[in-house]
Amino acid sequence: MAHIIDGKAFAANLRSDIAEEVAKLHEQGITPGLAVILVGEDPASQVYVRNKGKQTIEAGMSSFVHKLPETTSQETLLALIEKLNNDDSVHGILVQIPLPEQIDADTVINAIDPKKDVDGFHPVNVGRFSTGGNGTIPCTPLGCLMLLKDHLGDLNGSRALVLGRSNIVGKPMSTLLLNENCTVTTAHSRTKDLEDECRRADILIVAVGRPEMVTGSWIKPGATVIDVGINRIEQDNGKTRLVGDVQFSSASEVAGAITPVPGGVGPMTIACLLLNTLTAALRQNELAIPQWIPTQN
Ligand code: NAP
Repeated sequence: MAHIIDGKAFAANLRSDIAEEVAKLHEQGITPGLAVILVGEDPASQVYVRNKGKQTIEAGMSSFVHKLPETTSQETLLALIEKLNNDDSVHGILVQIPLPEQIDADTVINAIDPKKDVDGFHPVNVGRFSTGGNGTIPCTPLGCLMLLKDHLGDLNGSRALVLGRSNIVGKPMSTLLLNENCTVTTAHSRTKDLEDECRRADILIVAVGRPEMVTGSWIKPGATVIDVGINRIEQDNGKTRLVGDVQFSSASEVAGAITPVPGGVGPMTIACLLLNTLTAALRQNELAIPQWIPTQN
């Protein structure tokens, strides 16, 4: 039976380390601030935004939540971002995706000051991060990497496969692992012999958005499996439950270690958002980044 990587406990420790750094900043008269913008009524987004706001405050930071109606125009949203870009009490800005169809997500992301882009989606940050510079590291891949390094230590030379190539998870995850000197394969819907590719990996990161697609027979015995997927499925009794992109029951019999869903990667994403907000506040105040915070340089 695989070792279960407890993302919930790791994230709780991380949030407490962040709160300690924030307390030190308070002594210098600085309170890191995170602004979250939610456009529309998407129920899942509302839950995410509520949790982000709650955990931001618990870490000793200021939380500014802007809820805008579904009919908000792109101009109105861009004007708000411009205001937040110029607000010194705001160190991080996050626009909750998905956005209503009248708003172009790329235009909105490009409007955020790269210094305040705590999601790491702005092209300036993507470019810096890809070339080994100090761009913001996207929250979910950063959370996966922290769990991996905590469990495995040095990743040098490991054979890693990332299943999924989205801009928010798969691609930055592959870049991060490459920066850690792994030998990385990025797989996707056109990959041939996908199961064989997966079975060669010492580290398998799965971010496909397909419930329980990866089963135990796809996994190399002893491999470390990080399941990014969050899928709500209906059960026979009509109730719903969350499952990952990996079939936990069969995978945990083969893998050396595995993240559960829920309680694996999910809690790490918000904790890393707080971490990125802390890092942004430190950089904007030209203060040193503590050694324990992962950066590219
Ligand atoms: P996405 O944008 O839909 O990308 C999915 C990727 O999986 C694409 O690259 C796609 O390939 C690939 N794919 C889809 N079906 C496939 C198949 N049958 N075989 C091989 N590859 C396949 O999804 P995402 O935003 O990266 O999210 C992935 C999952 O992670 C979702 O379950 C999402 O809810 C979850 N997620 C969790 C967190 C968290 O905090 N834990 C954060 C973000 C996302 P193509 O490129 O070829 O189409």
